[in-house]
Amino acid sequence: MSALLISLIEGADAKRVQGELARLGLWSSASPGPRHTVLQVEAHSAHAGPETIAFIAALEEVAEVHHAASPHPALDAMPRVLEVGRVTFGARRPPVLLAGPCSIESEARIHEVARELGTQGVGLLRGGAFKPRTSPYAFQGHGERALKWIREAANEHGLGVVTEAMAPEEVPVVAFFADLVQIGTRNMHNFPLLKAAGEARKPVLLKRGLAATIEEWLLAAEYLLHHGAPGVIFCERGIRGFEPSQRFTLDLGAVALLSEVHGLPVVVDPSHAAGRRDLIAPLARAGLAAGAAGLLLETHPDPAHARSDGPQAVPLDRFGALAAAVMPRHEPDARRAAGGAA
Ligand code: PEP
Ligand code: MN
Repeated sequence: MSALLISLIEGADAKRVQGELARLGLWSSASPGPRHTVLQVEAHSAHAGPETIAFIAALEEVAEVHHAASPHPALDAMPRVLEVGRVTFGARRPPVLLAGPCSIESEARIHEVARELGTQGVGLLRGGAFKPRTSPYAFQGHGERALKWIREAANEHGLGVVTEAMAPEEVPVVAFFADLVQIGTRNMHNFPLLKAAGEARKPVLLKRGLAATIEEWLLAAEYLLHHGAPGVIFCERGIRGFEPSQRFTLDLGAVALLSEVHGLPVVVDPSHAAGRRDLIAPLARAGLAAGAAGLLLETHPDPAHARSDGPQAVPLDRFGALAAAVMPRHEPDARRAAGGAA
């Protein structure tokens, strides 16, 4: 994802060179100088390998090609296919399902959910023990004991665990119980938390800040990797727009850019984006069409009485139908046979 600077010879036709670059998936802006023009290739262009650079350097209008250092070298070097427990995330791999309730509400409830999801081809069981709530009077999660509940429930049904850490001091215990440590949208810019999560040396599910640019999101991943995380899976969960009919606006362009252009693993979370269950299926399908490596879906046995995010939870007894509707070739039993119990 490094930026290229291309100096053209005097009098060169910059537009023609820009056309050649665009053909290669390289998007550029031109800075005309008194004598010659410099083209800057945007960081979010396709990867320019040695052959592409040699091709550009050989164009008759080009005087010199400079490589500007990448702002995220660790992310550039990160493997594009990541193993998390027994599931594999990759832009071109079959999508992974991450599913469960918003919060871990009780030991019995998380076992009930795990029992059902274990038969539906879900890879990772989700549920929050430490909950980021807008109101201090809202349910804050059961904390550490809920981590034990979700781990045991997941183990019993052959699932992995993804759950959120909100503060640096919570990271060690979350990393102990989880296969994938979640950083929530409200904490994407919490640099001490990113450092602590990296130091735990577990893969991280990095939710996009609700008003974060893509570059800020990538740099948050760079923090995690620089501090020791073996891999980062990005999660697009909607950004704040002006439209009130949904909780947030799912940014499918970001999903396509990260997965198709940069080859990064991106999970789409239509539940938190829409905030309403009737839009989960179409947004999930759209996310997969944009290249998602997985889907994060909230489900609850009794959404009307959920302690958080009830309106977006798909009733547990309808989860199988939802998974089949959004992933027609998804075969729950094939996955389980291949993976076995954790
Ligand atoms: C969640 O996953 O339950 C959650 C709180 O998500 P977000 O950080 O995307 O709001
Ligand atoms: Mn939630």
